[in-house]
Amino acid sequence: MKVVTTISDVRAITGLAHKAGETVGFVPTMGALHDGHRSLMKAARSECGSVGVSVFVNPTQFGPGEDFDTYPRALAADEAICKAENVDWLFAPPVSEMFPDSARTTVHVSGLTEVLCGLTRPGHFDGVTTVVAKLFLICGSGRAYFGRKDAQQLAVVRQMVKDLNLPIAVIDCPTVREKDGLAMSSRNAGLSANERQAATVIPRALRQVLDQIVAGERSPRAVAKMLTEMLASEPIAQVEYVEVVDADTLTSLICEPVSPLTGNVLLAVAVRFGSVRLIDNASVVIENNGPEVVY
Ligand code: AMP
Repeated sequence: MKVVTTISDVRAITGLAHKAGETVGFVPTMGALHDGHRSLMKAARSECGSVGVSVFVNPTQFGPGEDFDTYPRALAADEAICKAENVDWLFAPPVSEMFPDSARTTVHVSGLTEVLCGLTRPGHFDGVTTVVAKLFLICGSGRAYFGRKDAQQLAVVRQMVKDLNLPIAVIDCPTVREKDGLAMSSRNAGLSANERQAATVIPRALRQVLDQIVAGERSPRAVAKMLTEMLASEPIAQVEYVEVVDADTLTSLICEPVSPLTGNVLLAVAVRFGSVRLIDNASVVIENNGPEVVY
């Protein structure tokens, strides 16, 4: 596996892969890699001739007072994981390589970024889309793998790719969970034992509400209320948001005019435990032949 830190090195590697007729599979990450990231690498490995992972804690997607400084960094362990997954190249640039002081351009996706996490993290998605667009342009055409755990990020990136006609197929992969249901996240390492235990309320609440939908509940407000109440039943959980949205447009289904749940519905939550902010979601497709759950 090649470990590189410069844009020109990535261009050289992917340029050769393109010349050889290989599909470039790319997995952008912020490192502190876990089995969720590994699942994206496995998907890329099974579909592409040249597989690359980027590890870059992107300062532009963190707001003031957010956890940029304390975000876990573990490059040596990340390298070992990428090697074990047969990744061909790892791109771990310094901030100055991706964002020289002279940089002045931002990629902004409107609408989709102004809801859910966008409400409490203004500017976050501009940081995401700008760095992802740059990474896509550095890698050239190919396939890029994203986790459904970050459902809003996925929707925003898909929109950007479509709007900018980027030659990238965006592939979404299922959320990988711990045995007790907690979605894997690099941020889980920041939870105390007590917070870690309390955080299991998130998957339990999502599952319980999905069960209610499968059992016939179709009121978006009842669903949101149930989810909120379950999360709030955990004393140390600080609920930031609970939303029921159209999975494609991210439009709230709780807002007027309220109509029965139908189509592709996303339940999305953000909950703080101490200084750690966790997000999770589940989706359900409600069609005539009954709901189909993705958790
Ligand atoms: P991050 O390093 O947190 O920026 O995540 C990099 C990529 O891994 C994103 O596409 C995430 O959605 C994905 N990812 C993170 N956690 C998980 C998980 N538990 N299951 C599947 N994909 C994940």
